Amino acid sequence: MIDHALVERCREILRTRPSALLSDIDGTLSEIAPTPDAAFVAGEIRDSLERLVDEVDLLGFVTGRAANAAVAMVGVERAVYVGNHGLEEIRNEEWTPVPEAEAAMASMDAALQEIQAAIDRAGLREVTLVEHKGLSGSVHYRQAPDAAAARSHLMPMVIAAVDRHGLRLTEGRMVLEVRPQAKVSKGTATARLLRDHGIRGAIFLGDDVTDVDAFRALREARESGIAETLAIGVLGEETPQGVVDAMDVGVRGVAEVGALLAALTRP
Ligand SMILES: [Mg+2]
Repeated sequence: MIDHALVERCREILRTRPSALLSDIDGTLSEIAPTPDAAFVAGEIRDSLERLVDEVDLLGFVTGRAANAAVAMVGVERAVYVGNHGLEEIRNEEWTPVPEAEAAMASMDAALQEIQAAIDRAGLREVTLVEHKGLSGSVHYRQAPDAAAARSHLMPMVIAAVDRHGLRLTEGRMVLEVRPQAKVSKGTATARLLRDHGIRGAIFLGDDVTDVDAFRALREARESGIAETLAIGVLGEETPQGVVDAMDVGVRGVAEVGALLAALTRP
């Protein structure tokens, strides 16, 4: 059962036009799966989003996945898909990368190949997945029996490749992210969406450390009087403390996100 006061607060914000409903995907709209390919957005959530796209001025998905992978996974037309933690955007089938990130694509290819080779040499191929996302890469170790040990094995390999190719490293839940130097994040991407669309009411749903930047962007917009905002943390067993600290309110898992979105579609 979703909290009635939360639904009312969300409605109020979305009535403050132009309004935006922004969300992370993995762990927020889809359950975390053993591998990225195995994750999916449930039909009921997709149905709610299909209806909400007409109720808000901007429906956006802000994800660590590649933007085209996000389009394939969510599949709601007329929405904005910000991929690779803000390095690219797809809107109306048009792709816009951050130029600095596009320029680093050859370095990204080389670095990810080196990381894969180092993983193979260390005999970690079975428990590690190197995901090439075009403008960035992810080294997933969720399937390792001892995640902490896997992380400490992988870290020096990733750092070596990142340093050699002028890239940088960030971390998420059971994942090391290889990124270009471009100083973008879900936070800068969210701030830009609010600005570009003149948003006066905004909700962001997210579950991981990278979403904290978006939560902060919402808080800044609120504190400077630009918009009414609400940062909703999606909580579970693995919730990083930073999410709890930065969110305005929490919901329990993807199931409660589904219940909230369904409630918002009802008059
Ligand atoms: Mg997530």
